[in-house]
Amino acid sequence: MEKVKKIFLTVLRNKKTTRPEFRKAAHTLSHILAHEAMTYIETQAIDIETPIEKSTGTTIKPSITLVPILRSGIIMVHPFLHYFQNADIGVVGLKRDEKTAQAHLYYNNIPPIKHPTKIIILDPMIATGGTGIETLKIVKTMGVKEEDIIFASIICSQEGVDTVKSQFPNITILTAAIDEKLNKQKFIVPGLGDFGDRYFGTE
Ligand code: URA
Repeated sequence: MEKVKKIFLTVLRNKKTTRPEFRKAAHTLSHILAHEAMTYIETQAIDIETPIEKSTGTTIKPSITLVPILRSGIIMVHPFLHYFQNADIGVVGLKRDEKTAQAHLYYNNIPPIKHPTKIIILDPMIATGGTGIETLKIVKTMGVKEEDIIFASIICSQEGVDTVKSQFPNITILTAAIDEKLNKQKFIVPGLGDFGDRYFGTE
């Protein structure tokens, strides 16, 4: 998978990439992360009948809740639903103040957690880790154990991963790349610029 990640990350990073190509690469990388997330989810055997005879199949055991962080997290929802078709979806709206890089919560609508559970937080970029940390606090307040939380992000900064992991050591972070640093504006370097602007067309 590492080679596939590198190829599609190159498309995302390249400033010459058109919007349709950018969207396609973002969806492809989200599919790859969803596929990877599946390896952390417990499954169970179920009895089924094929048109020919009785057989044993495999199904997802825990209840899954996808938690996209607005706005860019929503682009990862459909790729993840491809794999986690019965998932609940809880939406968190956190806006990063461009000057202070502080996260402000303006929307929180997560359905009640059904145990056993796995929560998959979706945000394409972990920069400072601020919005992720706020989301993790909300999810933990709902009674979810860190071991049951997966954070899927297309590109992270090393600083962001370290900050999140220092406060939530037992969560699983899935990513396609961990970039070197943040610049003064708290953008990931080399990164890809503003993910939401490039995806939604708000440049
Ligand atoms: N969000 C983005 O879209 N890009 C960054 O580099 C950091 C946060």
